[in-house]
Parts: sequence; structure tokens; C-alpha cells
Amino acid sequence: MEVKLKCIICGKSISEDEEYIECSDCDAKMHKGCFDGELLTDANGNPLCPICASIEALDWLDELISAYTKVYRMDPRGSEVRDRLLSLLRMIEK
Ligand SMILES: [Zn+2]
Ligand SMILES: [Zn+2]
Repeated sequence: MEVKLKCIICGKSISEDEEYIECSDCDAKMHKGCFDGELLTDANGNPLCPICASIEALDWLDELISAYTKVYRMDPRGSEVRDRLLSLLRMIEK
């Protein structure tokens, strides 16, 4: 039986003779042309899908913000951080 590969980024199928990239965390597949090597890699240069890359970035951000919560409250730029986080949230809520 033929296993159909689907690109997690564009949602279209990947044909058998096509080269593709596989996420090193979850095995999601991506067309070579859809994959952005600068955005979608972990610290060791392994390819990640957008979801795993986001989770990794959020883990880092989570740690950063938790460690310096007080600084965000004391520095006026803390509200910029808050606004940007809220605007990111709105972007994916749609
Ligand atoms: Zn694609
Ligand atoms: Zn993944």
C-alpha cells in the first residue's frame, strides 16, 4: 500500500521522488522548498517543523520570563514585551 507523505507546512502531498526534510522531534515531513533552514532548526542545527520549533522557542521564553518577571515589572519596556506576546497570541487565535 502506498503511504502518502504530506508536508506539514503547505499541506500538499510530497511525491515519492521528491526530496523532503523530516522534523527531528516529531517526524513531520516538509518539502525542501517549504523548509526555512534559518528559522526551523534547533541549537544543534537539526531540522524542526514549525510546531516543534515554536515549542522549543516557547520553552526558552518561558524560562527567560519566569526568571526575570520582576524586571518586566520595573522596566517600562516590560509593557512592550507584554504587548508583543499578546499580539502573537492574537495572530494564532484567528
Ligand atoms: Zn510544502
Ligand atoms: Zn515537529
